[in-house]
Amino acid sequence: MIGSDTVEAFREHFGTEPDLLIRSPGRVNLIGEHTDYNDGFVLPLAIERALWIALRSRPDDTVRMWSGMGDQRAEFSLSALTHSGGWSDYVQGVANELQRTGKELRGWEGAILSDIPTGAGLSSSAALELAAARAFSEVSPFVWDPVEMAVIGQRAENNWVGMKCGIMDQLICAAGHQDQALLIDCRALTWTPAAVPSAAIVVVLDTSTRRELVGSAYNERVTACEEAAAVFGVAALRDLDWDTLDEGRYRLEPVAFRRARHVVLENERTLAMANALNRRDLTEAGELMQASHDSMRDDFEISSAALDAMVEAAMASPGCYGARMTGGGFGGSCVALIAADRVDAFVSETLARYQAAIATKQL
Ligand code: ADP
Ligand code: MG
Repeated sequence: MIGSDTVEAFREHFGTEPDLLIRSPGRVNLIGEHTDYNDGFVLPLAIERALWIALRSRPDDTVRMWSGMGDQRAEFSLSALTHSGGWSDYVQGVANELQRTGKELRGWEGAILSDIPTGAGLSSSAALELAAARAFSEVSPFVWDPVEMAVIGQRAENNWVGMKCGIMDQLICAAGHQDQALLIDCRALTWTPAAVPSAAIVVVLDTSTRRELVGSAYNERVTACEEAAAVFGVAALRDLDWDTLDEGRYRLEPVAFRRARHVVLENERTLAMANALNRRDLTEAGELMQASHDSMRDDFEISSAALDAMVEAAMASPGCYGARMTGGGFGGSCVALIAADRVDAFVSETLARYQAAIATKQL
């Protein structure tokens, strides 16, 4: 159990007992990709993989951490935050944003262990941010609020790390519940639960390909969406419906039009998917996932040969209602909706097909 391992790691690295153990889950997004920073809708769920911190408060303003990821230590002072260029930036960014809201922070020392693969589209970064926010809230005189802390985590990633991500990862990490996806309205910061029917299982398929997101095409997509919204005179692409976009398509360059089309139709698909899950219509849910993948491959252009091969392998395997790439894109994982009684066959066949495909295509 990784929680008890984290306590053990704390004893080993800090020579004493921890006061507290924090668990912060990873997430997978069923549908609604690159819609969050367009004020739109997303449908993620928290997963059983998580990042843990065993910690002890400190009487001064020092934060001292050890992470099992590469057996690394990091230390900083709350009165002299710096851009380290490493993973401690996620924690320093959270400290900075908390301080900017006027909160008085205390120091802590903690051991971090996680079984969320990094850069796999399962949001290890938000898990680290929210775990850090929780750590500060426990040792300092302020109260944890899931929405406020999600916003703090997002701002940390936007302003300190330089990744213009939306609110999805942080909000599902802070507010997710077992056995439920959340349909999140990323403008209102409200959500309604959608239960995955018990006849289906959500399977995550990691291609093990990685692409560093910061400074990459992700931020370019954010800019393209902002520009398209400005052309139509709306605050965000959330405010554009398909008919208006279609009628005004001549106002955008062809690439910009395709980017906007993805976002506008993905918002519709996300609402339809939550509805389909609530009606237990797994066939429709699977079709929506498929349409989402096609849109990300052709219109938003954030898929990759490995992700496409994984989706094809999944779709050809037993019991698959639908599959799509998930997360920021350009590498990482796919998510699939599978008939519960076919999962074992699905996993072994998909793996075999994917390995055969990447060997042939030399991915
Ligand atoms: P994702 O969120 O999809 O996993 P990101 O590139 O957004 O990928 O975030 C990954 C980064 O988060 C890592 O490079 C590292 O800086 C930080 N991180 C994640 N997990 C840990 C951990 N257990 N210990 C230290 N840093 C971590
Ligand atoms: Mg991330």
